[in-house]
Amino acid sequence: MQSLTELYKKGRGPSSSHTLAPERACRLFTEVCGVFPYYQVQLYGSLSLTGKGHGTDRVIIETLPGETEVKMCLNWDEEFPNGFYLRGLNENHIEQVKWTVFSLGGGTIRIKEYPVDFTREIYSENSWKEITEVLEHEGLSLTEYIYRHEPDLHAYLLGILDAELACVDRGLQESGILPGKLHLKRSAGDLYRASEQMSGTEKERMRMMAYAYAASEENADGHSCVTAPTLGACGVIASVCYYAVHDLGIDLDRIADALAVGGIFGNLIKQNATISGAVGGCQAEIGAAVSMAAAICAYLEGLDRRQIEYAAEIGMEHNLGLTCDPVMGYVMIPCIERNAMGVLRAYDAVLLSKYMSRIKRHLVSFDMVVHTMNETGNQIPITLKETAEGGLALEFERNR
Ligand code: SF4
Repeated sequence: MQSLTELYKKGRGPSSSHTLAPERACRLFTEVCGVFPYYQVQLYGSLSLTGKGHGTDRVIIETLPGETEVKMCLNWDEEFPNGFYLRGLNENHIEQVKWTVFSLGGGTIRIKEYPVDFTREIYSENSWKEITEVLEHEGLSLTEYIYRHEPDLHAYLLGILDAELACVDRGLQESGILPGKLHLKRSAGDLYRASEQMSGTEKERMRMMAYAYAASEENADGHSCVTAPTLGACGVIASVCYYAVHDLGIDLDRIADALAVGGIFGNLIKQNATISGAVGGCQAEIGAAVSMAAAICAYLEGLDRRQIEYAAEIGMEHNLGLTCDPVMGYVMIPCIERNAMGVLRAYDAVLLSKYMSRIKRHLVSFDMVVHTMNETGNQIPITLKETAEGGLALEFERNR
């Protein structure tokens, strides 16, 4: 498995696959190949079908340092469904360099013509079963195992936590209308103010949803957020972090450790299935985020390793089959609301794990549910995988 620094990344919204990945590729292209007067970019797959709504063309044009033409194209004949050709042209518009870039999900890229390994393997274990065997054999805790592989990770995660908190703070303060044709009103601040009139569980749940809205609306506005594991699903873990700091008063070091624990589950999903909505549907984004968030909350609650795994498994199991159908291609409907529901599902998963694990042994392992998620994702039709051609996106168009 790869480093957790490749899972948690800061980047501009609204989509890790559609804005962060192209932004990273364009920056690298300029660093490696130099500056050209003209650029031509051809987008394929989901990048082509929902690139306009996600602002892919805007990010590419703003990142490349020359006059840039971006085309939405069909008939992509490469080995991964989501990608683009990036060409540097001279003053006579003659091609000088061409890269084939794959957007693998979560902002991770692979470049056919430039064999830099962004996906270098750090962990030799690739399943929860293999990890637990090492932990038991060597008498390690999960965080000891993670930091043994990545000694600098804790400091990195404190930086990520800082970005998560700042993102929610900004989102709570912002108001107005999100960009795009949906004219969607920002609602995080309203939800938070509503929570001040509430008490008990209702107040707690409303707060969590307000925080998820805050981060997701920042993302939808193209501002800086954290991939957790993707930008579309960034609100779930951002909410968990903010709630832990501001409502529960948990110290930052412990939350950074919890992010490491949640990250391992996200990494296993990324390794053995996908975290890309364009490949596996929304189960790969919100499902993965709920699973990771459940592990984070379970760790913060002081649950044991078996209960943490159970919480992560529940978080994913009950998002199996969740499709990706962003209305008009914007990461807004159903995405923002789905992040808010996601954070509540994560807390429910922890509650269930905590008490069910005392009653009986769970029969479905985390590894099993990840394998199922991958198989399910393969069977979801392409119209329901970030193309905005099916589901709610289609129904919305019919009723416009
Ligand atoms: S529906 Fe889910 S996977 Fe699709 S863009 Fe929205 S958050 Fe991402």
